[in-house]
Amino acid sequence: MTTALITHPDCLLHEPPPGHPERSARLSEVLKLLEGPEFASLLRKSAPKASEAALARVHDPDFVTALLEAMPESGYVQVDSDTIASPGTKDAILRAAGAVILGVDMVMAGEAKNAFCAVRPPGHHATPHRAMGFCFFNSVAVGAFHARAAHGLEKIAVVDFDVHHGNGTQAAFTSDPRLFYASTHQSPLYPGTGSADETGVAHNIVNAPLSRGAGGPEFRRAFEREILPALATFGPDLLIISAGFDAHRDDPLAQLRLDESDFSWATGALCKIAKQSCEGRVVSSLEGGYDLSATARSAGAHVRALMAA
Ligand SMILES: [Zn+2]
Repeated sequence: MTTALITHPDCLLHEPPPGHPERSARLSEVLKLLEGPEFASLLRKSAPKASEAALARVHDPDFVTALLEAMPESGYVQVDSDTIASPGTKDAILRAAGAVILGVDMVMAGEAKNAFCAVRPPGHHATPHRAMGFCFFNSVAVGAFHARAAHGLEKIAVVDFDVHHGNGTQAAFTSDPRLFYASTHQSPLYPGTGSADETGVAHNIVNAPLSRGAGGPEFRRAFEREILPALATFGPDLLIISAGFDAHRDDPLAQLRLDESDFSWATGALCKIAKQSCEGRVVSSLEGGYDLSATARSAGAHVRALMAA
């Protein structure tokens, strides 16, 4: 079985004002790299738009309606200090969440062994009630709640190695013992959440903050000592990865010192647990990553590890 690559050209049309780090070139560079011959066997699929009902499984329905109605037909709408909508944003955010939903459906149907959603904007800062941190809807949480509603899965895990803490995913998961969220992230850093003592209602939240300047050895140690054992004990029926690559040493928004081999290693370790726990069902979605070359190379390493799993 193969790895699916799910994307949509609409994800390039979300255009915050010039100078904003979350720009469309991030995704176009990733897609260009994934056109290479070693990725020829990827099963390429077009992301559908998520329905409002699917979004409202995670988000307050009034928030969903209000956010979609606020999307501009021209100019910009600032929905949070650094979260700015342009005319292309509405379709991009619906495709980004729809990609994760399709990824879940494909791995559940056995059409792909795992999937990478090459989408933007990212989603992991979006809480049930609020858009923030470049994020509008929480695509991985929408995928997780879809997996439960449409496929009857009991236990769903999200592991997030973006350099920022996924406060939105944690907020959506923290009170439900059948949902698991684990994160490595630089601390202190935006959004300021994710301390190790935030453990959820049933130790279903695992935060492994890393200090400024930490590199591959510290990252791998956090995975081996904290995240991987907790994930294996939880025993997910589906694993979703919030794949941000802004912990790369070249990233301009943070100060961790990972490289492509660390993302590849983490992906392999996660897929190994998924194999033991849920027949290898993994859906990964692009979150952050703001150095164009480092993000593309890291995404390539990540997809290579998914293909090899
Ligand atoms: Zn990030």
